[in-house]
Amino acid sequence: MEHIEQVNEKIYSIDQQWLDNVQYNSCYLIAGERVALYDTGPTTSMEKVLQSVEELGFRPEDISCLIYSHIHIDHAGSAGVFSTRYPHLQVLVHEQGAPHLANPEKLYQSMKRVFGEMAEKMYGDVVPVPEEQLRPLADGEIIDLGGVQLRVLHTPGHASHHLCLYDDEHRVLFAGEALGIYLPEADVYFPSTPPPDFDLVSAVNSVEKLEKLPVEKVLFSHFGPAGDPVIPLKKAKEMLIDWGRIVYQAMSERDDTAYVLEKLSEESMKCIEHLRDAPELYRKYTELVRFRSGTTCGPGYIRYFKKGGVVL
Ligand SMILES: [Zn+2]
Repeated sequence: MEHIEQVNEKIYSIDQQWLDNVQYNSCYLIAGERVALYDTGPTTSMEKVLQSVEELGFRPEDISCLIYSHIHIDHAGSAGVFSTRYPHLQVLVHEQGAPHLANPEKLYQSMKRVFGEMAEKMYGDVVPVPEEQLRPLADGEIIDLGGVQLRVLHTPGHASHHLCLYDDEHRVLFAGEALGIYLPEADVYFPSTPPPDFDLVSAVNSVEKLEKLPVEKVLFSHFGPAGDPVIPLKKAKEMLIDWGRIVYQAMSERDDTAYVLEKLSEESMKCIEHLRDAPELYRKYTELVRFRSGTTCGPGYIRYFKKGGVVL
């Protein structure tokens, strides 16, 4: 079961094997007296996730709730299909995200806009979560699974409706995308700052809120448990600020998006510098980092600054 990793006696990390991509999307199974899944991913991951749940010895009927870090399609795209297939499930999400899961038309349209014809193939169906199954989460609230308690931490930045979970007893942080992306195979960290919602000040404030916790284990939604509890928090803050400075500076030099994106792309390559001696990994991650900085991170910063956001 190389797609499943046991984090501790109650928590398992599941590789969603999304479209057969390994080490890309994580889902977490939390086995208290009641069982929860955190970030089930898009509908195209659902069968693989369910298969992993069964390999762990649970039936879908044993799951009591789905909890989402945020409503982006790669995290919560399957919430509607899951919850309509299994009407006993509760769907727990940030109070600001809940209306969008009840009526996912906007999510669906933005997925279509970004991915066009490919959207359905990549992410599958997006259908409404029945209102009676939705449970909005407030900041500081405790989700009690019996034997495991998860504290809800609103962590805006990546998106205004982003939340993390913290297991105080085991000191485990379910970071969602608040600390960006971690690529364990290459030990690479980088920020995740998509338009239209990314907010630099909120993102850094959220990292500072997480830094105050005595975290021993950080679980990324992209991807998996990080080996070190301190580095991800430190890196996330530094890189969010540095990348912001690069974009801000480039925007003040030229009113030219291609120029700004190229400057960020150059900066982003620093995070894979340590792979120079591993040419295959270097090639693979050059492509990925350039793609992410050009299509997601750069446009997110540009939009943030155009809206009047401040540099740090
Ligand atoms: Zn994501």
